[in-house]
Amino acid sequence: MRIDVFTIFPDMVSGFAGQSLLGRATAKGLLDVRIHDLREHTTDVHRTVDDSPFGGGAGMVLRPEPIYASVEAVDPPRPLFLLGPGGRRLDQAMAQELANSGGFSLLCGRYEGVDDRVRTDLCDGELSIGDYVLGGGEVASMVVLEAVGRLVPGVMGNSASAGDESFSDGLLEYPQFTKPAEFRGMDVPEVLRSGDHGRIARWRRVRALERTLASRPDLIEARGGLSEDEQALLADPDLQA
Ligand code: SAH
Repeated sequence: MRIDVFTIFPDMVSGFAGQSLLGRATAKGLLDVRIHDLREHTTDVHRTVDDSPFGGGAGMVLRPEPIYASVEAVDPPRPLFLLGPGGRRLDQAMAQELANSGGFSLLCGRYEGVDDRVRTDLCDGELSIGDYVLGGGEVASMVVLEAVGRLVPGVMGNSASAGDESFSDGLLEYPQFTKPAEFRGMDVPEVLRSGDHGRIARWRRVRALERTLASRPDLIEARGGLSEDEQALLADPDLQA
């Protein structure tokens, strides 16, 4: 899976992409992340990438020429997404969609953003990581790389672990525990040490439902409320916390 990133701060992104999960995925040949420095395609001695906005106003805007030149020089995988607060908001379903695709590319804006001709003509779409404004698209590109990269088949050590995570079935994940079984007077629930896999699965389902109902009732709403089976599980006296 190839992902190309265009930025004026390539070192920010390459440092991140070279380590941990993404670094290992790259070493294994599962991911091919290519980071391109927009400044390499400037033509003046100052390597200028930005200029003041037509019509006035504060700040600087990225000029179209280095961006077009950079993208045209590598013919990156499409779609090419402009990162920006006006885009489609990234969620787990979109991360999964992107992980199933052959590849895609990300363009990081900076300052006040990019010349709008880049958005309307060069890019195929716009992608936001949330309703807030960052100083640049680099952190957003890292969020996309990590959320998508870990879903690419083979990237996570245990391929089953992506399946019951938060959002994968419209619920938050059940609580996780590890050793020690008793810590500062707090015990790990007995059922998790029982070895009864059926009961463990039902207990986890109930905890996931309860947690989602308490913290993210909108997720329950979005999946059409609770099924009859789920209501029965929640009421089961054998499965209480
Ligand atoms: N003036 C713009 C914000 C520019 S922020 C506006 O008001 O909409 C500078 C750059 O940061 C953007 O070009 C974009 O690439 C990136 N960025 C900012 N917020 C983002 C977000 N929520 N998601 C993805 N990228 C974002």
